[in-house]
Amino acid sequence: MIDTHAHLDGCDERPEELLARAREAGVGRVITVGSGIDSCRASLAIADRESGVFAALGIHPHQAGGAEAGRVDELVELLGHERAVAVGETGLDFYRDWAPHDLQRNLFAAQLELAGRVGKPVVIHNRDADAEIAAALARFDGTVILHCFSSPALFEAALEHGYYVSFAGNVTFAKADELREAARRVPADRILAETDSPYLAPEPRRGRPNEPANVVHTVAALARVRAEEAAELASQIDANANAAFALPVPEPAQ
Ligand SMILES: [Zn+2]
Repeated sequence: MIDTHAHLDGCDERPEELLARAREAGVGRVITVGSGIDSCRASLAIADRESGVFAALGIHPHQAGGAEAGRVDELVELLGHERAVAVGETGLDFYRDWAPHDLQRNLFAAQLELAGRVGKPVVIHNRDADAEIAAALARFDGTVILHCFSSPALFEAALEHGYYVSFAGNVTFAKADELREAARRVPADRILAETDSPYLAPEPRRGRPNEPANVVHTVAALARVRAEEAAELASQIDANANAAFALPVPEPAQ
């Protein structure tokens, strides 16, 4: 199984311990997401020393008002690393609203342009900015992953444009009927699962620090709403992640 979105450098426990427990649970691959240049470097260092770990590199919309926003150019070199597989997370957050909207828009546009230039997929963070996100993505040519999908208003655009829809622990919450309906309807070749560790632990771990091993609970919940076998959905998600992030597919053992 794969956890397509975790912040290994932002968890309390060491990546080695988190990854050992993930492997024990059958989660052999993790995409760790850097937010800001130092975090991106830390993420690449983890990907370098741990097998099955890849990195997405971006500057978060929360950082749009600070010094990090001026460092997009530094991402270019980092994205040349063989374990760097995506640009992001990037997008707009008008909910927590930690940075002025104009600065968020500029930073988002710069990273979309960068993703196009380096030919990598883009990992999208969206809170309360559905219409603007949809408009910006409609002008973007590359592969799109809607991370921690929680915007039913973006769902039709996702279907129309073939965006990957990545579900996190919130799809397991009691009140998430709308998300589960989206999870039921996503085409088989566009569904992904993630933890967003250390945030948003799924049931039955809700309220505790999240970790990549917990993606098994989210996959199980997705399989239930789709009336599929969890093991089959897990291998479908693996294949989807290979396609979305152009991950190296291991040679079959002889
Ligand atoms: Zn994240």
